[in-house]
Amino acid sequence: MSNRGNIIVISAPSGSGKTSLTNRVLKEVSGLEFSVSHTTRKPRRGERDGAEYSFVSEKEFQEMVRRDSFLEYAQVHGNLYGTSQAFVDAQLAAGNDVILEIDVQGAMKIKEKNPQAVLIFVLPPSLEVLEARLKGRGSDDESVIDRRLQIAKEELKYYRNYQYVIINREIEESLGKLKSIIIAARCGLRRQTEQAEEIIKTFKGS
Ligand code: 5GP
Repeated sequence: MSNRGNIIVISAPSGSGKTSLTNRVLKEVSGLEFSVSHTTRKPRRGERDGAEYSFVSEKEFQEMVRRDSFLEYAQVHGNLYGTSQAFVDAQLAAGNDVILEIDVQGAMKIKEKNPQAVLIFVLPPSLEVLEARLKGRGSDDESVIDRRLQIAKEELKYYRNYQYVIINREIEESLGKLKSIIIAARCGLRRQTEQAEEIIKTFKGS
């Protein structure tokens, strides 16, 4: 069906501010749904099952892998994360766009399977800002933060594989850019063909 929604992939190292950005865009743009990933990671303070993630055991996760329930899955920072195929399919079929907040490995798998997906990389303005944000979160200890910074350095290199890059200096500015990308994708030929053909039909015979 031509007017199916778009998959919007957002990747960024932890602490880049992508979660605040995603939450804001979900509130402000209609027809946009967040794909709640499954993970074997333990919930952080304030995280609720079914909201930020569906928290599952390793056994449950592997069972879902066996049943082919994931559109993509990957191991990140020692934990497993996966995107529900059924949820994404249902939203796209309903004409909604779906935001996947996933790592670079997952993003590359989505790009392979679905070349029409819109890939956005959110970059922190500097290493100092990233470190300060990770420490300010207060939910991970020093060794976890160090590991995340190391991983961030590696992940940043992948920005070249994305269509769009947002340098997150200031949330309002970044939000404007993110909304523009999502709305521009909705104006793409594939999404508009059905309606455009309907309009053209009304001209026939006139
Ligand atoms: P965190 O544990 O800090 O919430 O997330 C760690 C990393 O896992 C982030 O880069 C996040 O985008 C990524 N992630 C979250 N859900 C998924 C998923 O379903 N698939 C993949 N590949 N990565 C995910």
